[in-house]
Amino acid sequence: MPIESWKGGEVDVAVIGAGAAGVGAARQLQLLRPDLSVVLLEASDRVGGRARSIHPFGTDAVALDLGCGWLHGARSNAWTGIAEDVGLTVDRTPAPWSDGGHRLGQDDADARAAGAAVNDFFERVDDYEGDEDADLSAMLSPDDPWSERIYAVGAFMTGGELDKSSVIDLGRYDPGPGPDWRVRQGYGTLVATYGLPVPTVLGAAVSRIDHSGADHIVVSTGKGELRAKAVIVTVSTNVLAAERIAFWPPLPEKIEAASRLPLGLANKLFLRVAEPQMFPDDTHMMGSPHSRRTGGYQLKPFGAPVIEAYFAADLALDLERQGIDAMFDFSVEQLTRVFGADIGKKLSPLAASAWAGEPFVGGSYSYATPRASDLRGVLGEPRDGRLFFAGEACSRARYSTAHGAYETGASAAEALAKTL
Ligand SMILES: Cc1cc2nc3c(=O)[nH]c(=O)nc-3n(C[C@H](O)[C@H](O)[C@H](O)COP(=O)(O)OP(=O)(O)OC[C@H]3O[C@@H](n4cnc5c(N)ncnc54)[C@H](O)[C@@H]3O)c2cc1C
Repeated sequence: MPIESWKGGEVDVAVIGAGAAGVGAARQLQLLRPDLSVVLLEASDRVGGRARSIHPFGTDAVALDLGCGWLHGARSNAWTGIAEDVGLTVDRTPAPWSDGGHRLGQDDADARAAGAAVNDFFERVDDYEGDEDADLSAMLSPDDPWSERIYAVGAFMTGGELDKSSVIDLGRYDPGPGPDWRVRQGYGTLVATYGLPVPTVLGAAVSRIDHSGADHIVVSTGKGELRAKAVIVTVSTNVLAAERIAFWPPLPEKIEAASRLPLGLANKLFLRVAEPQMFPDDTHMMGSPHSRRTGGYQLKPFGAPVIEAYFAADLALDLERQGIDAMFDFSVEQLTRVFGADIGKKLSPLAASAWAGEPFVGGSYSYATPRASDLRGVLGEPRDGRLFFAGEACSRARYSTAHGAYETGASAAEALAKTL
């Protein structure tokens, strides 16, 4: 049965997954090879993947991002220019954790000591020259009074606990030069808007890719079959590792690479603020100075009447399993310690992400387990010049970001454009 929304069940290139990588790949192909037909096959009912904006205050008001929100390395981030090209607004307010940004109590002696301990930790990671990879907990100084803070910050960055992720991989992380900016209409809106010119089939979960035939690759979806001359696969590592897509002939090296580059977990809860004047704009605070089980809180992003709570790693998973009310109670308990007992009455739960349970993603961003950093290259290697792989986890230095995802998609498209 031919796929219903595509003419005759044949296409030059099928791109699987309409996240930042898939949209980037498809648009780049349209640009480089307008002679080729391209279709995006997306399992869910929307374009964007882990880039997802919601508009609780109306479509003209500021958007909230349940997934990526920051244009990291903004000056060299491809999405910055794309945002301006498609008519969205890039907001250059300094990120609260950066120079010129605001953190609650940032000049307190404790805050300075914690910041210095975290910086020292990342310097040790960057300078690591051991022959063997290690897990990040090996980079802690014994008896560091701020080790719990380092656990918390490490979890925000990798989505995993320190003892699960690779030192070498974090040392390679480099989102590129430039500050961290935002898109007022949302990063999710940006990716979805950029994807508009690409023919897209939603609700088309790919279950099998048969690349045994010489002439074409057969892609099986819940909506039927499609024959393509080339395919770009951009699904997350957790989707690949769970073998939600069966490859024929099998590709065990991809499954192994994906399994050793799992998705960590980060979730956001947005709390509605009844009396916004009680909080400063765009200010960051940690819920607890001395526990790794803490949220990070951004007070009134863009001045909107919300607090964005950010949870990572084991804490995020525990809270996701318990649901939005548990996330809310946990946040209120932490905010009460700073703003006083009555604060809970001014707050209510607005929206939360649950990325671990998101059926076609299964987590937030990839980290490398020890000795797995080089597998990012294995994951991204094309097969026979016609089966390509992209997605944030394939990026050596910009993994875990939406612009890293875009770059891997665009590179796959460039390579494909030359061979097909
Ligand atoms: C809470 C959170 C905060 C983040 N913050 C930032 C940030 O501030 N800045 C930043 O740069 N990055 C951030 N990230 C990371 C960023 O969102 C991701 O790295 C990026 O969006 C991944 O894009 P991708 O295209 O590789 O994968 P995805 O977005 O996962 O896209 C893959 C697509 O494939 C689809 N799919 C899966 N299985 C199938 C199938 N069988 N058939 C068809 N389609 C399928 C999925 O539905 C999905 O749409 C954050 C992520 C989260 C969750």
